[in-house]
Amino acid sequence: RKRIGVMTSGGDAPGMNAAVRAVVRMSIAKGCEPYAIFEGYEGLVKGGDLIKKMNWEDVRGWQSEGGTLIGTARCKEFRERPGRLAAAKNLILSGIDALIICGGDGSLTGADIFRSEWKGLLDELVQNKELTQAQTDQFQHLNIVGLVGSIDNDMSSTDATIGAYSSLTRICQSVDFIDATAYSHSRAFVVEVMGRHCGWLALMAGVSTGADFVFLPEKPPANGWEDEMCDIIRKHRALGKRKTIVIVAEGAIDRELNPISASYVKDILVSKLRLDTRITTLGHVQRGGTACAYDRMLATLQGVEAVEAVLESTPDTPSPMIAINENKITRKPLMDAVKLTQAVAACIQNKDFDGAMSLRDAEFEE
Ligand code: ATP
Repeated sequence: RKRIGVMTSGGDAPGMNAAVRAVVRMSIAKGCEPYAIFEGYEGLVKGGDLIKKMNWEDVRGWQSEGGTLIGTARCKEFRERPGRLAAAKNLILSGIDALIICGGDGSLTGADIFRSEWKGLLDELVQNKELTQAQTDQFQHLNIVGLVGSIDNDMSSTDATIGAYSSLTRICQSVDFIDATAYSHSRAFVVEVMGRHCGWLALMAGVSTGADFVFLPEKPPANGWEDEMCDIIRKHRALGKRKTIVIVAEGAIDRELNPISASYVKDILVSKLRLDTRITTLGHVQRGGTACAYDRMLATLQGVEAVEAVLESTPDTPSPMIAINENKITRKPLMDAVKLTQAVAACIQNKDFDGAMSLRDAEFEE
């Protein structure tokens, strides 16, 4: 019976538990044995109790649990070959040669490197007499399937990542709360939201709450934006608006790549508009808490698809990433999606903001 490992890695995201639950139960339904790898790649490198066989009832109720119940971590050792050698040994000893990883682009890149090195790692383990040839013979290929778990919605080639809509929902609720108090005192609030390289949360929160101004990493404002922002807010106030909301992505930058901080934006609102202004940094409430219905559905459907992909994969097919495009669950070549994601980040680093936007647009025109 095929053994399928499932793990969560990188930053936690609501919906990861629903993904693990779906993988565990679909694996069992397909006659396979699911194993949870605890603590991300640390579990692979350390093995032992961190690799545990899962039963149907072990994941009962996991859809409505926030965070990731099998833990996640950033693991330095897995970035180096000796760490991946230990990981390969632990997988072979557990009889696992298929891994479904729910994480961000870093985690999925690591997984693909692991797969490409797999044969060499096994040869080295046999040479070092850590494993026998017979032990490795039936595990000649490692199957990798990626699920994208990230609140930032920062992966190319998929419309939504697991966790993004939960986080957006939480941000909208928080801004609604802030709205009420801002209105009462006729105040301005600068709200900092997550999103290091991707402004999706900030942009969609702005659209959803009717914010006055939004700062994103991919589309820095033109030089002199301070006056533009103040003109817009002055206009809104003149129309009778009693509250002002400015949303700043944590990775917001200007055209010279200098960070645009919430405190700088606040200073502008105070000095130029004389608005009583407060800052709210939403922080980790954006990633904690339960998953919204969309993420539970997305994670469940994608978890099911991931198991199907494992069972259909061949040594020659590139590792797939399970995506959603125009409401359909799809499979995309994992490394193409990662490369496109990294290409957008590189454009931003090179101040090629139009390039970054056109890569994003091209994705939707595919
Ligand atoms: P997030 O988007 O939340 O940051 P992520 O998956 O991109 O998630 P990373 O910290 O980049 O988060 O990666 C998580 C883990 O994946 C790392 O701690 C490391 O163990 C592994 N990893 C990342 N990149 C590589 C790589 N190039 N080679 C091997 N392992 C890697």
